Amino acid sequence: MKTRIIVRKAPMEKFCMSCGSRLVRRDHEGKERPLCEKCGWVYFKNPACASAVAIVKDGKLVLVKRGVPPHRGSWCLPSGFEEYDESPEETAVREAKEETNLDIRLLGLYKTYFSDSHPGKNTVVHVYLAEAVGGEMKPGDDATDVGAFPLDDLPAKIAFRAHLEIIEQIRKRERKSSLSAEAIRPEGAR
Ligand SMILES: [Zn+2]
Repeated sequence: MKTRIIVRKAPMEKFCMSCGSRLVRRDHEGKERPLCEKCGWVYFKNPACASAVAIVKDGKLVLVKRGVPPHRGSWCLPSGFEEYDESPEETAVREAKEETNLDIRLLGLYKTYFSDSHPGKNTVVHVYLAEAVGGEMKPGDDATDVGAFPLDDLPAKIAFRAHLEIIEQIRKRERKSSLSAEAIRPEGAR
């Protein structure tokens, strides 16, 4: 995704998306929201959706090195924002391909969590477990490096507290350095 960092010269909070008039902040159904007194349009500010994916490859966990802020230079799970017309599963598969060039098979949803780690863009993140089934691993898109790491030899700098927690949970569940996709499959996952 090339549109991840967007500098908005006219923030949505200031102008009506329908008629372009300046918005005012008014109480709307019990909550103060920006709304347009000219045409009645109300700005409902919702969290963005994103997907992240923990990919097992040859008993190791695939991580990417971030080439963009926040946390440029740290490692994290392949992840990105959902396009409007794709499902969370499709985002996970697409982001894995874009950032690692790996083809993956999703094993199940590991968890969802709420994140405020992107300034100004609160996010609901769907984390999937997957195994690599093809493709030659190489970094792409906004990843500057990609690696498959044994669980007892992970990079020191992991971006995003939530990613670190997930990696720690997987490590505790596995309790050995080699990772198997079956072992970390979530309860009830197909
Ligand atoms: Zn308007």
